[in-house]
Amino acid sequence: MKVVFIGPPGAGKGTQAVRVASHFWLKHLSTGDVLRAARDAGTPIGLQAAKYLNEGRLVPDELVLKLVAQVLEEDHDSAGHLFDGFPRNRDQAIALDKLLDEAHMPLTAALEFVVHEEELYDRLYKRKREDDTEETIRKRLKDYSALTGPLV
Ligand code: ADP
Repeated sequence: MKVVFIGPPGAGKGTQAVRVASHFWLKHLSTGDVLRAARDAGTPIGLQAAKYLNEGRLVPDELVLKLVAQVLEEDHDSAGHLFDGFPRNRDQAIALDKLLDEAHMPLTAALEFVVHEEELYDRLYKRKREDDTEETIRKRLKDYSALTGPLV
């Protein structure tokens, strides 16, 4: 089973992903979490991703795809995957299709989370993650509608 959650920052994808993944025994793959962990551990990919993360910009596809391929390879025997925060643009979606094709695993479902923009700003300001400044929040929401929106 392969499931994709699509939604803007602050929509609650991460919270719901933990619950759904545990219910269906899926491996929860949050590219944001994996990237932050790589940055904090100082791995080569993490070091390259750090400046993008800190500025609220999308990390280059090449780095994200490397991480996703690594995780898929590590847990190819789990019941499936729940992708949270990936794919984030058209090229990533095409790359995911290719990975799933190669694994003979069709996508089971894609869920879109829809939340009013005012509510998103409110939640993100309250969340206080270190990359949640006024500027990065605006940047991430703008990127979402421009780059991720078309995937819907
Ligand atoms: P949010 O949804 O609040 O932006 P995430 O944890 O999903 O939080 O992502 C945090 C940051 O990680 C993003 O701002 C971006 O820099 C990076 N990131 C996460 N997933 C991707 C991805 N699929 N492609 C590029 N960058 C990503």
